[in-house]
Amino acid sequence: MRPPAGHTAQETAYGKLNLSLDILGRREDGYHELAMVMQSVALCDTVRCDFYEGGEIAAESDSPYVPADSRNLAWRAAEAFFRAVGAEQPGLSIRIEKRIPVSAGMAGGSSDGAAMLRLLRRELAPAFSQGELEAIGASVGSDVPYCIRGTTALARGRGELLTDLPPLPPCTILLCKPDFPISTPELFGAVRVRRLRFHPDTAGLCRALEAGDLEGICRRIYNVFEDVLPRRFGQVLEIKQAMLQLDAMAASMTGSGPTVFGIYGSPEAADRAAEVLRRDFRQVYVTRPVQGNFF
Ligand code: ATP
Repeated sequence: MRPPAGHTAQETAYGKLNLSLDILGRREDGYHELAMVMQSVALCDTVRCDFYEGGEIAAESDSPYVPADSRNLAWRAAEAFFRAVGAEQPGLSIRIEKRIPVSAGMAGGSSDGAAMLRLLRRELAPAFSQGELEAIGASVGSDVPYCIRGTTALARGRGELLTDLPPLPPCTILLCKPDFPISTPELFGAVRVRRLRFHPDTAGLCRALEAGDLEGICRRIYNVFEDVLPRRFGQVLEIKQAMLQLDAMAASMTGSGPTVFGIYGSPEAADRAAEVLRRDFRQVYVTRPVQGNFF
């Protein structure tokens, strides 16, 4: 279980988008019952880990927004891993190259935590199953189990009950993040489930994925949080409208925002739209869906 001191390993942490996000009700434990179709995108962080003698953890990143202490989800994932396997923790020096926008609704922190778990399993406990690793991930955060397996999946419950789905057909994805954070608890607090005017057609979205029908998928992309966004975040809906006017097949906020994504049928169309959005926004990215198994 102990790698040689001086050993280094690294793993890719992909960003995620919500092709749909629905809130079905409030649970007895206070959490909301969710149904979300999740999709990994190629925009990714790199999580690197050096193994040392001794049991200290250190973390650093090229982004000032990533915590360099035990609040970092890669750090928390490492601690959870060694607690779960009951092994003595080696010294770990974690370095995160950050490309996924932070506090963006793209699960960047959860994905770094998931990458850390995949890395530790690969290096130290290859007999560990995906289910065992996802159970450790669930103790780190609700989105971590999904980020461990990645690609396309339906997430229910708090986000930890996962069903694999066929991949999003090839397309180009435009991302635009306005320069303000949106508090996830504030958005959940604004939701009155019975007053939500629209819900995504999650079953229809899953069927469209099964059929590889990109147009059918695009018709069903929807996030219920858009309906309860406080007026001060109106720019999110403006970006969505701008993408639709700039030939997106669909556009939506991801997670609790504020990033908006648009699905484009060609890289050229996405590039043209990106050029327009870059006049007003600093964080604009052109990416694509990721397919294949991460585990
Ligand atoms: P989600 O989509 O899961 O709501 P998010 O994309 O909105 O997540 P993150 O980028 O994961 O948000 O970051 C949210 C907060 O988590 C940040 O304010 C940051 O302090 C903290 N955090 C902890 N670890 C990390 C990490 N490795 N990378 C980025 N943020 C991290």
